[in-house]
Amino acid sequence: MSKGKAKKRKKRTLKRFGQFIKTKLRQTLHRATGVTHFRWMTRQDSRVRPLHAQIHGKVFTMAAGHPTEGYPGQPFGCRCVAKPVKRGFFSFASLFSEDEGGQV
Ligand SMILES: [Zn+2]
Repeated sequence: MSKGKAKKRKKRTLKRFGQFIKTKLRQTLHRATGVTHFRWMTRQDSRVRPLHAQIHGKVFTMAAGHPTEGYPGQPFGCRCVAKPVKRGFFSFASLFSEDEGGQV
């Protein structure tokens, strides 16, 4: 393997790890702030997997998530995000939601 390829692979792995951490953080924050349900939001581009495109905008409980996919960002390489449906007294979870333009 060339050096360039190894570098790219390392970058991709780090990116996925970062996404994984962000997903975990969001889940923890949502739970801690009293969010009970979330809306599955995809990136709405051509790279979104077909199943995720189907469930885009659907609401799931924080307790169970999607029956096969779990939580947005949890399946390997998934770039979807969980948008809190109900917020608790704290709205600090919004800091970790990239694509909400402040319209909650
Ligand atoms: Zn996804």
